[in-house]
Amino acid sequence: MTGDQLNVVLLGAPGSGKGTQAERVGPAFGLPHISTGDMLRAALAAGTPLGLEAKRYMEAGELVPDEVVVGIIRERLADDDARRGFLVDGFPRTLEQARALDAMLTDAGRALTDVVLIDVPEEELVQRLSGRRLCRGCGKGYHTVFDPPRQEGACNVCGGELYQRADDNEETVRNRLQVYRRQTEPLVGYYSERGVLKAVSGGGRMPDDVFADLRRVLAGGTST
Ligand code: AMP
Repeated sequence: MTGDQLNVVLLGAPGSGKGTQAERVGPAFGLPHISTGDMLRAALAAGTPLGLEAKRYMEAGELVPDEVVVGIIRERLADDDARRGFLVDGFPRTLEQARALDAMLTDAGRALTDVVLIDVPEEELVQRLSGRRLCRGCGKGYHTVFDPPRQEGACNVCGGELYQRADDNEETVRNRLQVYRRQTEPLVGYYSERGVLKAVSGGGRMPDDVFADLRRVLAGGTST
């Protein structure tokens, strides 16, 4: 039974802040943060067969095949820490993935409790993604204009080197946004019809304010 579990999907375009918010929401609600993008990047860095298979899709800003990501999620959701609730970010990204997720949860006697869309206007997404920088040491995110590090190229927290994700260059960013519109946006209708969709506004707002809205929505409040 789902009971008082929170089985949550964060939905939103690349650059909408899903990852940043998931890092806050996960600990606040005691939910493991599950990111298919992070798992695929880890596989790529480790040079596993999965990473090698995913590489060309990721570098082009295309989606990794459904059966691959569905397999990763199926395994991850069976882990002990995900059995009493989870927060997934970056999955599902296609209707087929959404149907597969519903089916695997139904088989386990569970269901999604909340799908929260973080809504950000397109122009802002391009700006955010192309200025994004990450720390090689601890993974902390920065933005060259909106949230620069104190010392250029170095992490405030651990001093690690900052780098740009290979798929955050402007051309790939535009392709990722197109892929989002074509393949992922239909999920808004899918989840809305099922009565689990909520939305928070993520445009032109500070991460703390978006987090406050997410907190309220997940605690049973209404969308912004
Ligand atoms: P993200 O970090 O969520 O932006 O994901 C980075 C890249 O990983 C995407 O552009 C895709 O190539 C791949 N990826 C991550 N999650 C998925 C997914 N659910 N379905 C297909 N590809 C994915």
